[in-house]
Amino acid sequence: MEHSVLIEDLQAAVDGQADLKPTPRAHSYTKYNTWTDIVAWMSSMTSSSSGLMTKQVIGNTYEGRAMTVLKIGKASSSTKPAIFMDCGIHAREWISPAFCQWFVKEALSTYGTDSQMTSLLDQMDVYVLPVFNIDGYDFTHKSNRMWRKTRSRRSGSSCIGADPNRNFDAGWCSMGASSNPCSDTFCGYTPESEIEVKNVADFIRRNKSTIKAYLTIHSYSQLLLFPYSYTYDLAADHNELMKVAEGASSALRSLYGTRYTSGPGATTIYPAAGGSDDWAYDLGVKYSYTFELRDTGRYGFLLPESQIKPTCEETMLAVKYIAAYAGRVVGVYRSFKDFSPAAQYVTTAEYSLAASPLGQASA
Ligand SMILES: [Zn+2]
Repeated sequence: MEHSVLIEDLQAAVDGQADLKPTPRAHSYTKYNTWTDIVAWMSSMTSSSSGLMTKQVIGNTYEGRAMTVLKIGKASSSTKPAIFMDCGIHAREWISPAFCQWFVKEALSTYGTDSQMTSLLDQMDVYVLPVFNIDGYDFTHKSNRMWRKTRSRRSGSSCIGADPNRNFDAGWCSMGASSNPCSDTFCGYTPESEIEVKNVADFIRRNKSTIKAYLTIHSYSQLLLFPYSYTYDLAADHNELMKVAEGASSALRSLYGTRYTSGPGATTIYPAAGGSDDWAYDLGVKYSYTFELRDTGRYGFLLPESQIKPTCEETMLAVKYIAAYAGRVVGVYRSFKDFSPAAQYVTTAEYSLAASPLGQASA
């Protein structure tokens, strides 16, 4: 067996992620921000958004932190289709919350100037949960950089937390999950035993008539996954989901050449029951995707801060592609002609909208 050393000094790499240093730092889109900084950032962004963004608490975490969903979109008297996106289900995947913050910045700062973003927010609402597993995220900043799970406790076990992405009610704990509370992939004591999972599932259930796409952001591996992960069976919409994933991956690759692999979770990464994407899909949210962002293992969870900007920039292209496709958003269709694999699934009437002057508006 041959081997190679990826990281010569792991502690030095951990220490290099400056948030572990005690000195407080201001919020930055190119740094890994602490939960405290993200809370303050959410408030200031909401109040300066001229009504384009509102925030709503969907419940508290196990340790009592408020889970806040940001709703971005032009106010409308009619019901708009929506997208739900969460980041930070797994605590140590720091690039994920960084992307949600980047997305909010881009949405608010380019609305009115970027024609694709403007069309998107005029015609759809985007729900963003910047950090799903807040207790775990905070723990990775203060105690254990490589923590993954929630921080819930149960009498009778000295082990803490469950894997929130094994705790959804989708083939729960049947494969690729552990019933051992000490395992990193512990599925929890029951489906939705983790309060964070229950809060998100309740929110999506309440809004399922409007939510057309569910996006969940993880790292690492550079994959764009879709159902199923709890079975090797193909999803009923497999072909369309694959085409949209390929289109989104092409859009992503167009910026810096970063290659993503697309496919069902079970065969593309590993079988994993109880995942949020499978659950959302079975609930009826057709365009349900899991992103595994950079890299492919050189730094893994310890992705250097210098890669936050390019990672977020390229990921924006894929997210906008899926969002536009799911919402059939006029004016954002240009992306389908640039990266056309999904175009065959768009109806003729919708495609003619794509070729309209509005659709051509952006340079
Ligand atoms: Zn993850």
